[in-house]
Amino acid sequence: ERMVTGEIQDDDISMEQSLRPTNLNQYIGQDKAKENLKIFIQAAKMREEPLDHVLLYGPPGLGKTTLAAIIANEMGVQFRSTSGPAIERAGDLAAILSSLEPGDVLFIDEIHRLPRTVEEVLYPAMEDFFLDIVIGSGPSARSVRIDLPPFTLVGATTRAGLLSAPLRDRFGVLSRLEFYETKDLCSIVERTAEIFQTSITKEAALEVARRSRGTPRIANRLLKRIRDISQVKGEEEISLATSDEALKMLQVDDVGLDHTDHKLLQGIIEGFNGGPVGLDTIAATIGEESQTIEDVYEPYLLQIGFIQRTSRGRVVTQKAYQHFGMKGHED
Ligand code: ADP
Repeated sequence: ERMVTGEIQDDDISMEQSLRPTNLNQYIGQDKAKENLKIFIQAAKMREEPLDHVLLYGPPGLGKTTLAAIIANEMGVQFRSTSGPAIERAGDLAAILSSLEPGDVLFIDEIHRLPRTVEEVLYPAMEDFFLDIVIGSGPSARSVRIDLPPFTLVGATTRAGLLSAPLRDRFGVLSRLEFYETKDLCSIVERTAEIFQTSITKEAALEVARRSRGTPRIANRLLKRIRDISQVKGEEEISLATSDEALKMLQVDDVGLDHTDHKLLQGIIEGFNGGPVGLDTIAATIGEESQTIEDVYEPYLLQIGFIQRTSRGRVVTQKAYQHFGMKGHED
């Protein structure tokens, strides 16, 4: 399993329960999203109305689920959670929606993966809080209207562009989560260490932050492994030297890249002279899905300027060549 993927892994599940911040003030970073939400939440509370529907988008592991639960908590309502692929039929959605209490937050992760037929049932539910369900089939089919309690839908997806326009248009609040700045990620590492009841030096926390691809899930996962190694060594405080040693052992390089990133970058360098090369060609070359590359691997490589997107495909930059100690193309 990849140490530096933002996607959730089995090992993360039990740990993450204890690490989730529960209110906006504990939620570190993402100032723009937080400021916006604070105002919308306050206004909704003043009007005694449910919050408008919220779409959260950004790469995995940045805190979308956490933020959705915080929204429910701040609104003082129940949090219900499901995912696009889990809702197979319109009836599944009807069952969930009709069990909500007024004002509740329904979180749908990977909302772009809702089946089309379910999505169409969702439109009137979001807009006017009712469902139109067809019962029976053939000539005896009839449509039944079910009124719903007002609720807030919080949808999460990796890219807003993955949603159909009619679905996207029904969200009143669109919030993009960004990769975390090193200082914010450093605070997250220190907070996690505290919850783990271990101490970590400032330099070590900073090093973990730097090598976590701007992603809290990765920072927490790395810290957990580093803590084990530090404990075995009998350290009282997690040191920079141990962090560095552990990260080397985990094959995380000094900017947070692993063999998969190396394979991707070197595949473009060696196979296509650094590009430009199309996404599908890259995917075929390194044996990964195009969509995984686009949503999981590539965003961070774009963020740190190791690759660029051009109209003719992906290009590896001079900066990436330097990272590998190579001379780039002569342009
Ligand atoms: P996503 O839904 O975007 O994949 P999650 O909300 O599941 O991400 O976040 C992954 C983990 O990272 C959470 O369990 C939480 O511990 C941590 N986390 C995310 N955002 C923050 C934050 N802003 N402050 C502190 N911890 C965070």
